[in-house]
Amino acid sequence: MPKTRAIEFAERGAPLRSRRWVLSATALAWAAALWIVAVDNLAFWRTLWSVRDDSSLRGALALGALALLLWTLFALLIRLLCWPRVGKPVVALLLVLAAVTASFIDRYGIVVDRGMLRNVLQTDWREAGDLMTASFLADVALRGLLPAALVLALRVEFGRWRRGVATLGAHVLLLVAFGAGAIAAFYADYAAAARNHRELRHLLTPTNVFNGLHGLWREQRAAPTTLEQIGTDARRDPAPAADRPLRVVLVVGETARAANFSLGGYARPTNQALDGKPVVYFGNVSSCGTDTATSLPCMFSDLGRERFSAAAAARRENVLDVLKRAGVAVRWIDNNSGCKGVCARIETLDLSSAGDPALCEGGECLDGVLLRGLDDALERPAAGDGLVVLHMKGSHGPAYYRRYPPQLRRWQPTCDTREIQRCSSEALRNTYDNGIGYTSEVLAGMIDRLAARSESQDSVLLYVSDHGESLGEGNVYLHGLPWRLAPAEQKQVPMIAWLSDGAARRLGVGVAELRHVAGRAWSHDDLVPTLLGLFAVRSSLYAPAGDIFANARPAAGPSAAAR
Ligand SMILES: [Zn+2]
Repeated sequence: MPKTRAIEFAERGAPLRSRRWVLSATALAWAAALWIVAVDNLAFWRTLWSVRDDSSLRGALALGALALLLWTLFALLIRLLCWPRVGKPVVALLLVLAAVTASFIDRYGIVVDRGMLRNVLQTDWREAGDLMTASFLADVALRGLLPAALVLALRVEFGRWRRGVATLGAHVLLLVAFGAGAIAAFYADYAAAARNHRELRHLLTPTNVFNGLHGLWREQRAAPTTLEQIGTDARRDPAPAADRPLRVVLVVGETARAANFSLGGYARPTNQALDGKPVVYFGNVSSCGTDTATSLPCMFSDLGRERFSAAAAARRENVLDVLKRAGVAVRWIDNNSGCKGVCARIETLDLSSAGDPALCEGGECLDGVLLRGLDDALERPAAGDGLVVLHMKGSHGPAYYRRYPPQLRRWQPTCDTREIQRCSSEALRNTYDNGIGYTSEVLAGMIDRLAARSESQDSVLLYVSDHGESLGEGNVYLHGLPWRLAPAEQKQVPMIAWLSDGAARRLGVGVAELRHVAGRAWSHDDLVPTLLGLFAVRSSLYAPAGDIFANARPAAGPSAAAR
């Protein structure tokens, strides 16, 4: 019997369909908005709750009023998107987008702004894959896919347009009434929270995503297609007395923070591999940005941190272009996710996925491959002076455990998973420190290679990280917080210099003199003048105050007169 009934229903169609839940478009908008405000904005509410000035009833009421206002506002915006045919997919997509955003924010303590979105769009999929952990996917399934599937399964009545307009009008009136009421009652509370906690607007999901995309779009639209030349007046001083070529190796680190360098006083010997080498450690260096997409172009740009924007940098040359034009052979060797446009006009070698089976696995390589790259660069016939930029994979997270070979698991237990929140802070620190230990080994290997050639060339090695990292301090992980919000761990970067005896004579500055200025506050802004100074390039771009070597040079030193 039941079988017959089922066939009957199926043939008629209507009875089966009428069993689906039916919802008006307005009800759908209110429901989706409630879900987003309540479920996808946990960090927003947690932050507001923790910073409210008033712990009495007033603070809670202010929060409640804001919740009601946001619910009404989001419901109105969603209702405006709800049109026949497109309404359901649009709402479903919005729910998934909000869940993905919320999951990143809750997991890693990040905020979502233009810079973060640029990072997401520029990152490569190997790195993105590291973030797609099982718990992340489960979270997105629960908070995003499940409600989205429900929306798609529902039957939504869109009603007649006349009635729709009337409902919308009522909705707008309700919003105005709530808005006026909340502002009249709690304006001072909201203004203080917004002023003192600017991260709030980057936490409010999903408006943070749309704000960020809008910013990126404006940035793109403003970008002219022509490339602006800089330092066109650059000329090199006539070759110095030394008849040997100068080789400068600039090692750009990744996600190494100064706080974990024993050279700077960190209790663990993370830089032991450099013991006994005459290196100079600069302990007070600040980065330009807190993510690769900002710091990398910024450190090679003449704009400096204050004037830097990714769009402005993309439409003008950088110091590598200037050096190349001045006659320096420039080469970029990459073991990271690319140079973010910096090496666009420079000879480039990408070692990040191919090559040595002993060092590469799963489409990425340990930084040891850069030693091969350096060998290759150094063995080329010496034709004048040259700069080699080696771009490390460094300590890129969250898979810190994949940044060093197994024999370097010096500090244990380690956090051998990408789900770093599941590890104890001790295990996380151990893993990160093992990575710094490996970076030191690679740097030591580079110095050995340069030292072995000191009879035939003068060499300088300069290492500086692109930005730091948060390892769970204050529940913040990874990096990429906007500059003004970011903790020192994300902005204080290690910098190391080494130079051969020949280079010290040629530049008129040695280890002892460099150590005199190593404690000063330096920044990524000083890289451009330092590189220009190392190659004795005269240009209006050259700002002597930022040239680290010139600052260390004794006033009566051999080259001082030349400046
Ligand atoms: Zn980076």
